[in-house]
Amino acid sequence: MFRTVLVANRGEIARRVFRGCRALGLSTVAVYSEADRDAPHVKDADRAVLLGPAPPRESYLSVERILAAARESGADAVHPGYGFLSENWRFAEACAQGGLTFIGPSAEAIRAMGDKPEARRRMAAAGVPIVPGSSEPVADAVAAGRVAGEIGYPVILKAAAGGGGIGMAKVTSAGELAGAFATATRRAQSAFGSGQVYVERYLEAPRHVEVQVFGDTKGSVVHLHERECSIQRRHQKLVEESPAPNLETKTKRGLTDAAVAGARAIGYVNAGTLEFLVDPQGGFYFLEMNTRLQVEHPVTEEVTGLDLVAAQLRVAAGEPLPFSQDEVEQRGAAIEVRVYAEDPAKNFLPSPGTITRLALPGGGEGIRVESGVVEGSVVSVHYDPLLFKLIALGADRTGAIERLARALDACVVEGVKTTLPLLRTIAAHPDFRRGRVHTQMVEQGAFHG
Ligand code: ADP
Repeated sequence: MFRTVLVANRGEIARRVFRGCRALGLSTVAVYSEADRDAPHVKDADRAVLLGPAPPRESYLSVERILAAARESGADAVHPGYGFLSENWRFAEACAQGGLTFIGPSAEAIRAMGDKPEARRRMAAAGVPIVPGSSEPVADAVAAGRVAGEIGYPVILKAAAGGGGIGMAKVTSAGELAGAFATATRRAQSAFGSGQVYVERYLEAPRHVEVQVFGDTKGSVVHLHERECSIQRRHQKLVEESPAPNLETKTKRGLTDAAVAGARAIGYVNAGTLEFLVDPQGGFYFLEMNTRLQVEHPVTEEVTGLDLVAAQLRVAAGEPLPFSQDEVEQRGAAIEVRVYAEDPAKNFLPSPGTITRLALPGGGEGIRVESGVVEGSVVSVHYDPLLFKLIALGADRTGAIERLARALDACVVEGVKTTLPLLRTIAAHPDFRRGRVHTQMVEQGAFHG
């Protein structure tokens, strides 16, 4: 086992990973930007290294500076968290070349799944159902129109290198295609440095259900059940839970079997997630694979009782998976909500500023809090505005929702606008309480008033 882990990240996820490292007796190294000198994650680690100025390119996205920080601090392993460099295969490769253990999958798996058309081809070849659409990027609006003609409108144009819900454009008729193609290409180019886009059938009001998988270097691949992540804004998750409510046993079985088959087909090692869209008839379609630990991993930890970060560390060190498929049980229900510094009244525009007051519910009693901020923290324009996550656990879904509602009521955040009021409305909403959810609810105004 390596001895010292550098976490190439910030906020709540850096703190979560440090906790996992401490549980295994490993030393920890934090990295930080000038904007994060006083950030809580810096104080959590045994050592901290300044990377550079606030803009991510000069700090958390700088492969060179992170590798230099690892050398300087004597780290022998790197955990990338989520976001930033976590799905950058060149970073994984650079770590290996620098003699560091990258705590995640192989650079090759990251590369293949990061190219969404290639991921679709690889999954289809493994027998995993994919959303109907193009298997290659489309060269121009005419080619996109040909695919759309075959699969039928509405379609959605998506960035081949996409992520974060960026660069997607819904197209309802042939007349809109040229304009949408130009916009999607431009957005993809500026966000991902590649303007390539591909076409998928646009599913109306589907659910987003994903499966946590885990592989080791001995050839084992298991799933850790599903997560429902349908409540989203801007195609980004706000609420996640496990088990997925009202999911037929047959559909659930199909999803977990497909996920394990897909992961096995690419020789996947470490933690990963296969995301699917599920239609009202129970049909499911592979959307993409995330080759990292997800924001919503705690709901899986709460229902399975497993420590995913500890498992990541062990697997990265070459140990076998610390659990077999039979040992992964789903018990009770867990729900996570994400509290972002965003203004729901302004289309979830980030709301940077200083947190002048912060009160969070205490942990314990079925409530887990994962926070990256404290009172006085400055929410910077440079980073993802996730402040903290609340995770509620119950013997059943109703019990989890009741605890969640109480925990949300106990939260006070002043100084920045947050998603808290919306999350309170969701927790009380009859459709949510009945487990009737789909990905377009927030945009359709289901939680207004
Ligand atoms: P990203 O990698 O940018 O997060 P995804 O492919 O994972 O993009 O999709 C994110 C979300 O966008 C999905 O959870 C869903 O809400 C919506 N979405 C993506 N593809 C489709 C589709 N073909 N039909 C309907 N909604 C979609």
